[in-house]
Amino acid sequence: MNGIIVYSELEETALGLLTKGRELASELNKPLSVVLLGDQAGDQAENTFAYGATQAFIADAPALTNFQASTYASALTQIMAQADADIILIGSTRRGRELAPRLAQKLSAGCVTDAISLCIKDNRLVVERRTLGGNTVSTKVITSRQQVIAVMPKLYEADPVTGGAGEVIPVSLELQGPTTRVLERRPKKAGTVNLEEAEVLVCVGRGLNDKGDLALIQSLADSVGGMLGCTRPISHEYHWLTEDQMVGLSGKEASPRLYLAIGISGQIQHTVGVMNAKVIVAINNDKNAPIFKIADYGIVGDLYQVVPKLIEKLRSEFGGSQPK
Ligand SMILES: Cc1cc2nc3c(=O)[nH]c(=O)nc-3n(C[C@H](O)[C@H](O)[C@H](O)COP(=O)(O)OP(=O)(O)OC[C@H]3O[C@@H](n4cnc5c(N)ncnc54)[C@H](O)[C@@H]3O)c2cc1C
Repeated sequence: MNGIIVYSELEETALGLLTKGRELASELNKPLSVVLLGDQAGDQAENTFAYGATQAFIADAPALTNFQASTYASALTQIMAQADADIILIGSTRRGRELAPRLAQKLSAGCVTDAISLCIKDNRLVVERRTLGGNTVSTKVITSRQQVIAVMPKLYEADPVTGGAGEVIPVSLELQGPTTRVLERRPKKAGTVNLEEAEVLVCVGRGLNDKGDLALIQSLADSVGGMLGCTRPISHEYHWLTEDQMVGLSGKEASPRLYLAIGISGQIQHTVGVMNAKVIVAINNDKNAPIFKIADYGIVGDLYQVVPKLIEKLRSEFGGSQPK
């Protein structure tokens, strides 16, 4: 009868997709399953049932130990056939974005990556994604039988069901050996950040006069337990922060609970990276700055006056703890 299947290497993302998948599956009257791959994947099965999966397809094999997009695509192709799934929802993480088109190619399926909304209309899955450098949103309906949709992480919050239960289905896969070999693994350099994971993100732009003033913005980030990001001029023109910290079209996309924009004009190439932020706060001395059009709260003022007062207020209100 076909069905919807969910896969992400990140547990929280998979649970969020299951939560949305539940709604879609119920509207399309299809079963909802999950794929768990790799060592000890089976340990997560019970938890996925609590979020609406009624079947958990579990596979482990030496070829799955290190992520290789082509091997994982092959694994998912086989599991989709076994599950008789016609729609797969994947987290649009760095890995998910590599995986989705390869899987679609193997299945001869239509594919949408970086989806920002999913709904059912006239019994069909309708997907939205940003296009033209974030200037517009396009709406897609895939016409092939099978569909591969990579959904922006953190778009849907995981919400458990009461009394969820399901069946664990071990799958044996025929996988080719890896085409590349991992020679060495190195931890990221100290101080590197993963803004995609940020719950609170404080970004700074060209409103800052001097590299030394970054300490002020870092202090604000610390007082809200946030990570520090920036616009392109800060990382690529002035080289005050690293490329890893640039947010936007050619940088990182984040879905924080709180995004603070300090001295940032709000050009679309930057804001497209934080469109999924829950709450946006902007500080800018130009009341006509475009950032205020997307801000939930805006402070018109000189950041050199506003930020120290904000830090002082946050410290006196919350002490060392972070605001909720
Ligand atoms: C193909 C392409 C891709 C791009 N990709 C990205 C991307 O991924 N990420 C990105 O960030 N940019 C990207 N850009 C650049 C983008 O278009 C903007 O130029 C950039 O985001 C502007 O950065 P900004 O807001 O820091 O600077 P500005 O636009 O110069 O804005 C600075 C702001 O600070 C305010 N300000 C000045 N002084 C103060 C003060 N004392 N207190 C408070 N406010 C003050 C000003 O009013 C102004 O609004 C891209 C551009 C192109 C063409």
